[in-house]
Amino acid sequence: MRDIFKLSCVQCGRPNYVTTKNKRTMSEKFEIKKHCPACNAHHIHKEGKISKG
Ligand SMILES: [Zn+2]
Repeated sequence: MRDIFKLSCVQCGRPNYVTTKNKRTMSEKFEIKKHCPACNAHHIHKEGKISKG
């Protein structure tokens, strides 16, 4: 069972990426340094849940 998460830039809050993760194997908050097109720079992106329905 996999859930979909968005990865939002911590600088501007814009959700730039979408990822899936398995809750059973990954319980910690996911964060990764990725390029943000809005900031035009590499910033930390943190997971935020996408509300379904
Ligand atoms: Zn940004």
